[in-house]
Amino acid sequence: MAKKSTAKKPARKATRKSAAKAPKYVYLFGKKTDGNGSMKPLLGGKGANLAEMCRIGLPVPPGFTITTEVCTYYYANKRTYPAALRAQMETGIASIEAQTGKKFGDLTNPLLVSVRSGARDSMPGMMDTILNLGLNDQTVEALAAKTQNPRFAWDCYRRFVQMYGDVVLGVQKRPDEDHEPFETVIHALKHERYHADIEDTKLNVADLKELVVRFKALVKERAGKEFPSSPWDQLVGAAGAVFGSWMNDRAIVYRRKYNIPTEWGTAVNVQAMVYGNTGDNSGSGVAFTRNPANGVKEFYGEFLINAQGEDVVAGVRTPEPVAELKKHLAPAFHELERIRATLEKHFKDVQDFEFTIEDGVVYMLQTRNGKRTAAAALKFSIDMVKEGLIDWKTAVLRNPADQLEQLLAPIFDLADVKKTAVIATGLPAGPGAASGQVYLNADRAVAAAEKGQKVLLVRIETSPEDLRGMIAAEGILTARGGVSSHAALVARQMGKVCVCGAAAINVDYAAKTVTVAGQTFKEGDWMSIDGTIGAVYAGQLKTAPSEIISGLVNHDPVARQTEKFKSFTQLMKWCAQATRMSVRTNADTPEQARIAVAFGAVGIGLTRTEHMFFEGDRIDSMREMILADTVAAREAALAKLLPYQRGDFLGIFKALKGYPATIRFLDPPLHEFLPNSKEQQADLAKKLNIPVEKIEHRVHELHEFNPMLGFRGCRLGIKYPEITAMQARAVIEAAVEAKKAGIKAKPEIMIPLVGFKKELDLQVALVHEVAAKVFAEKKTKVDYSVGTMIEIPRGALTADEIAQTAEFFSFGTNDLTQTCLGMSRDDSGSFLGAYQEAEIFKKNPFASVDQTGTGQLMKIAIEKGRQTRPGIKLGICGEHGGDPDSVKFCHKIGLTYVSCSPYRVPVARLAAAQAAIADAKK
Ligand code: PEP
Ligand code: MG
Repeated sequence: MAKKSTAKKPARKATRKSAAKAPKYVYLFGKKTDGNGSMKPLLGGKGANLAEMCRIGLPVPPGFTITTEVCTYYYANKRTYPAALRAQMETGIASIEAQTGKKFGDLTNPLLVSVRSGARDSMPGMMDTILNLGLNDQTVEALAAKTQNPRFAWDCYRRFVQMYGDVVLGVQKRPDEDHEPFETVIHALKHERYHADIEDTKLNVADLKELVVRFKALVKERAGKEFPSSPWDQLVGAAGAVFGSWMNDRAIVYRRKYNIPTEWGTAVNVQAMVYGNTGDNSGSGVAFTRNPANGVKEFYGEFLINAQGEDVVAGVRTPEPVAELKKHLAPAFHELERIRATLEKHFKDVQDFEFTIEDGVVYMLQTRNGKRTAAAALKFSIDMVKEGLIDWKTAVLRNPADQLEQLLAPIFDLADVKKTAVIATGLPAGPGAASGQVYLNADRAVAAAEKGQKVLLVRIETSPEDLRGMIAAEGILTARGGVSSHAALVARQMGKVCVCGAAAINVDYAAKTVTVAGQTFKEGDWMSIDGTIGAVYAGQLKTAPSEIISGLVNHDPVARQTEKFKSFTQLMKWCAQATRMSVRTNADTPEQARIAVAFGAVGIGLTRTEHMFFEGDRIDSMREMILADTVAAREAALAKLLPYQRGDFLGIFKALKGYPATIRFLDPPLHEFLPNSKEQQADLAKKLNIPVEKIEHRVHELHEFNPMLGFRGCRLGIKYPEITAMQARAVIEAAVEAKKAGIKAKPEIMIPLVGFKKELDLQVALVHEVAAKVFAEKKTKVDYSVGTMIEIPRGALTADEIAQTAEFFSFGTNDLTQTCLGMSRDDSGSFLGAYQEAEIFKKNPFASVDQTGTGQLMKIAIEKGRQTRPGIKLGICGEHGGDPDSVKFCHKIGLTYVSCSPYRVPVARLAAAQAAIADAKK
């Protein structure tokens, strides 16, 4: 709700100025511009930036924006509009009329408008656009006469009926159809009259007139009503369709993926049409001020001569690269270069813009911060600092933390690539390497992915209906469409590997085959694509680690010389400069610790010691211990485990090079260590030389209804203190050994699942007792500390008492979430999806901290813990430690560090730095 108030302020002010009672629902842009670029919540991204472009003198056709508040009203009031809206829209239209000298619905010089959605954050391909609105059987003749260009006028009209029919009247592809119904009509007419797939631009006036007739008949047949002829009816219907599309399936899927709140709503932009389809001196295009796939500073984009904007992104005709425009329309190209420079200088970020050239004159229809791959984001940020456009802190903020992992994604193994022929090439639209089994439609792709297959979605072109399939796929390959086609746009945003416009591939939806270079691939066959260079391969190629991993972890000198590696290390240096929290890792082996340290981790936040019991034949001793009937027998089994554990800890201390290691004592329920199947139990009985019935009996005895709430955590050490004693001895002896070898070791012993101070007291006393014994035996001492996990609500609520004993807290947010929410972390899968769909929570609470619930327990624990022990060290070691939003939350509540898996360390470092920078800006 706080977000709302900023949106409302300008509205109230403006209302007072115009002395009208009704809120201001319509904001003009053009000669007089009411809004500006900071008003995105109210005007949507498109509306706010159209206003901003008007303010800095860029050529923008006049228009007005209907605010997002109208969208909110629309849904709150059974899809109706506020009473004052119509009059304000009439004022808006009158203003456009005054600036263009045209009149809406006029029979001599008709004004046509575009109606476009504009959410706060751009939602490419999700919302709908209507062009050429205002045409009917009369105004089309007026437009033809006025422009002396009947072909143009009828082309506009058939486009309008098509778009309006699709978006407003819902005449769309049915589930059993592979093509849009309007396209099917066009296709049929072309074949009737020309017996070939001629280009749309080759259709003559008579063809276009016939198309309008057939389109209207199609509308009547499928929508059951006549196509509206009154321009005002058209306008109101179009605005309603834009608002309606906020709740369409595609928009909902998109919002869910990107956590965009439903309450934000969309604005509607109504703008005077400019025409890219008047002839060869006209055209439309989309461009980026720099290359959004790889980050190179080059004018990047594409255009089509004699076309309206939608043609470029629709992928129906393959557009030309924007550099080619110089040959066709040099003055327009230079004007665009000027605009490109102005945009970057003003917005200080890479812009993605749409333009139309009407008879040689350039108009801007939209600009927004360009979506980019992680590689491009990194390069933009580093280059812009060098260019003095932004400072280094802004550069850190410009790298989305949740995308950073893309940079660590594997590339194809070079040796494998050398051996494999490229069977097709296309545009490198989404960098990275992907191999997958081919599927040609979204539903089948999703079904295959759900079965655990790696999927490559191959389409002639993609459209928003394919979104689910694109999300499920490892990579996307299209035969048609350029760098701003739907496939490329979505891939860029999702960080999917994508090659588009690979014209050599022949996709046959009916036969479910892809034919290329003389080979035919059926659904389920493997193909591989390299989205960094745009190459397509048959079969499944091997992958190799990215240059960043090769450079940091394997110290590969070639990788270390790459620009990607250098930029990444620069970014991490800036992160270190900005951050307050440090980042540790969850690691159970020296190798994991080594990788994490290479990524910049400054210690281990969680070693789950139980993982060490599964290696080799240690599990046998572990099982022997569990099956033991007496303390002596248990101790004998534990004695066998001691040297293994000691060795493991020593290895970890070595890998950490003096950084601290938080070692968590045994936590899981014991039944997890015992064999389940009859054969395994028989094997074990033989090995331990005991009757199999004894094993069966113990398995039965250890069976629990709620193992997560059962005999686990410190409860094990309370009942079997000898387990804690063995683990304490292993840790302290390893630290002593390390010390003797000249290696600094800083063990932090962590007791799990503590809810009562007394539990911790008992365990800590035991640890100290063992440590004292070891020190006496070894005649030396080492530093160590003992703390606890805060992972059950009682622990959080009594943290003041627990902190009397605990030297540190680490939030085990996996358990804290399950116990706070009362939702089993292992069983919630069956309903989590439904919960997210119903927006009971926006994000999976096991992946991203439930800040209002679980987060509150964390805050209470911190406050109470600090009351007792002001400087207490506070960490988090649940899975949330690698989630950017959770990391930012941890910064806010004052944690000392976050701990996450080794490969998430860079993500957590970036998120921690971003939180600190954002904090300092406040
Ligand atoms: C936790 O509960 O958050 C935790 C780190 O411990 P585990 O996942 O091992 O229960
Ligand atoms: Mg736990």
